[in-house]
Amino acid sequence: ARLANQIAAGEVVERPASVVKELVENSLDAGATRIDIEIEQGGAKCIRIKDNGNGVDKEQLTLALSRHATSKISHLDDLEAIVSLGFRGEALASVSSVSRLTFTSKPVGQEQAWQAIAEGRDMQVSIQPAAHPQGTTVEVLDLFFNTPARRRFLKTEKTEFQHIDELIKRIALSRFDIAVTLKHNNKVIRQYRAAPEQAQQEKRIAAICSEQFMQHAVFFETADQALKISGWVSDRLSPRPLADVQYCYINGRMIRDKLVNHAIRQVYAHFLPQGMFPGYIIYIECDAKEVDVNVHPAKHEVRFHQARWVHDFISSTLNATLSDSSL
Ligand code: ADP
Ligand code: MG
Repeated sequence: ARLANQIAAGEVVERPASVVKELVENSLDAGATRIDIEIEQGGAKCIRIKDNGNGVDKEQLTLALSRHATSKISHLDDLEAIVSLGFRGEALASVSSVSRLTFTSKPVGQEQAWQAIAEGRDMQVSIQPAAHPQGTTVEVLDLFFNTPARRRFLKTEKTEFQHIDELIKRIALSRFDIAVTLKHNNKVIRQYRAAPEQAQQEKRIAAICSEQFMQHAVFFETADQALKISGWVSDRLSPRPLADVQYCYINGRMIRDKLVNHAIRQVYAHFLPQGMFPGYIIYIECDAKEVDVNVHPAKHEVRFHQARWVHDFISSTLNATLSDSSL
């Protein structure tokens, strides 16, 4: 069992940041409103993620650490319309096979918290009582301790932490309603408070994407019956550095999608001369049935069933926004 999980881990767990991604997505799927992340030595020594989500009860704990056990999909039909970030039921089993993972949880409405560990060649899960407030803490120690080839591939502590920091920025931009803290080697590096109001959201964006981006950003929002697109686009010509502000989310999932990129670039092509780059943060929301997120294990890509329609909707919305602005 450990070997099979380690092979699967090759697909999902590339580096500490990929572990953080899977764990934070689990916290979001569990309805958490606060997520505290502690990293030591770029994540190679320790990744600890604590949330205040729904938790897992004792009976489900063993299952949570098993491969292909997901509580999020129960019918084949659900695969057609995935609303959660996770659905493969592989992440915890995979990470646990290449680290020392403990999963501690207290579900809503229960008195006792429990801690689970999967150990040995057959990944036998053992469970013991623990102290924990409502929610879940997953601790991942010594990532890749038993796969030395992979461990050697890790970059410096600084580089690995930068990947984590970048990921947390992207998540902080995807969910303004969530409070997030990120610590590295016991030092607070980021602290994002919940930002329900647009003004607070713009402050968060300025902190993440620079004041400069926010100064030139125009908010837009358009909805059709089945598709909603909103966000901030920069209405000024941006030199290279602002090109980093290119974020796109579909139903809360961050993606880099060729179709979406093409639509955006095409719009900006009218406005930006050569060598200038667009800055944007775009949120697309549509019926989960319209997109297939099950294209790649790391879930960076999506497939739209009505690609042309989505493409044109993005183009026309951005075109209208940019023509209205001062550009
Ligand atoms: P997936 O997210 O694809 O379902 P995972 O391996 O990431 O698979 O997680 C397995 C299961 O463990 C989830 O379906 C969920 O039931 C449970 N789980 C994992 N993390 C959390 C968490 N932070 N809070 C509550 N439940 C969790
Ligand atoms: Mg998951």
